[in-house]
Amino acid sequence: MAALWAARAGGDVTLYEHNNSVGKKILASGNGRCNIINTTATADDYAGNDPHFATYPLKQLSFGYFQTFCHSIGLVLDVKEDGRCYPLSNEAKSVLIALKTAVSDAGVHILTDTAVRSVSKPDDHFLVESSAGKRSFERVLIATGSEAAPQLGATGDGYRFAAEFRHEILPAYPSLVQLHLDSKTPSKMAGVKTHAEVTLLIDGKQREKVQGDILFAAYGISGLAILDISQKASHALLNRQKVAITINLLPRYDLQELNSLLEKLFASVPRHNVETVLGGLIPAKTVTHLLEEASIASSSPVKNLTPKEVKKLSHLIREWKFDVNDTHGFKHAEVSGGGVSTAQVNTKTMESKLVKGLYFAGEVLDIVGKRGGYNFHFAWASGMIAGKEMAK
Ligand SMILES: Cc1cc2nc3c(=O)[nH]c(=O)nc-3n(C[C@H](O)[C@H](O)[C@H](O)COP(=O)(O)OP(=O)(O)OC[C@H]3O[C@@H](n4cnc5c(N)ncnc54)[C@H](O)[C@@H]3O)c2cc1C
Repeated sequence: MAALWAARAGGDVTLYEHNNSVGKKILASGNGRCNIINTTATADDYAGNDPHFATYPLKQLSFGYFQTFCHSIGLVLDVKEDGRCYPLSNEAKSVLIALKTAVSDAGVHILTDTAVRSVSKPDDHFLVESSAGKRSFERVLIATGSEAAPQLGATGDGYRFAAEFRHEILPAYPSLVQLHLDSKTPSKMAGVKTHAEVTLLIDGKQREKVQGDILFAAYGISGLAILDISQKASHALLNRQKVAITINLLPRYDLQELNSLLEKLFASVPRHNVETVLGGLIPAKTVTHLLEEASIASSSPVKNLTPKEVKKLSHLIREWKFDVNDTHGFKHAEVSGGGVSTAQVNTKTMESKLVKGLYFAGEVLDIVGKRGGYNFHFAWASGMIAGKEMAK
């Protein structure tokens, strides 16, 4: 995006890419569909030391502006009701092809299989040292992304380059990532997928509540509801705070409604065992372990349950608590929090406040978005600003 805008404005642009092709994350994004932007994005959809750093770029690349830009490169968008957008083709490949073609047409020199090793400024020019040798440039943009998904070529190199110029780097942490739980139970329920409400607790205080799919796994838990709470959970783990989640397996009922539903059901089939009856409400594998947790024998006929035990079951179904002890790591994360401090970057130009001619854009900065096209939105927006400015 940055290379395209800079070249369109008359800049002589060279793009370094250490992978054998550009845009691998675009290809992998949105399950191969590329959730390319969100029509509703504001700074509130981002985290970082100063999420409001995103306000100006998001305004510059409003949805309307982006749509016009997409048409200019031959890309038509499909806008969903919740503001997510995908290419009309529903294929991430079409986004990459449109961008790559536009970049080539604009005259950008793309050097693939070329890793940048260092960036320095020995005089009034920058010296870029790469696997293809040394070259001098008037201006440099660091848009190396984050460490998330190293299998797609992600590196922490941008942090290193920025640190060489004395930029402050906030510790990186995985985000939009699965969580590890401090319990053997999830692995026994591996494969169970269900709709639930997940509440995130940090140091015992409720910080976020979301509804969506959850999926128990050998390492812990995944699913969209988990990805949605993962930024705050992962950041808290980084800060060594106590992190836990509670899972509500039947969010459609409040506690009282659930309790009376159980009482009614138990009264209508008194001789059925508790495992069978609960199996009609929540996934069977969860029943076994929920009963273990409640210390109720699965073979107990429901007529033998005391009102206290029924209450205990209702409570557990709605608030099954697990301590979170880790994330599933950068390899499985979609994005990374932390990065180059935005305090030392000009939000209106993306230029470093410390080094003239040095620019930053995208995920290398300490801005991380929610799931839903927000991360691309900030990357496109900041890239566009940097590209335009660099060509001035
Ligand atoms: C599986 C997956 C799915 C995703 N889905 C979505 C989605 O649907 N919607 C959304 O908004 N976001 C999504 N994201 C996040 C999104 O892909 C990123 O936020 C976005 O790509 C960031 O753009 P960027 O240009 O800052 O970094 P990147 O896209 O990571 O680009 C940085 C480039 O720099 C290259 N590089 C790094 N170091 C060097 C070096 N030393 N020398 C040369 N080249 C180097 C890398 O190879 C890479 O090509 C997804 C991410 C993943 C991993």
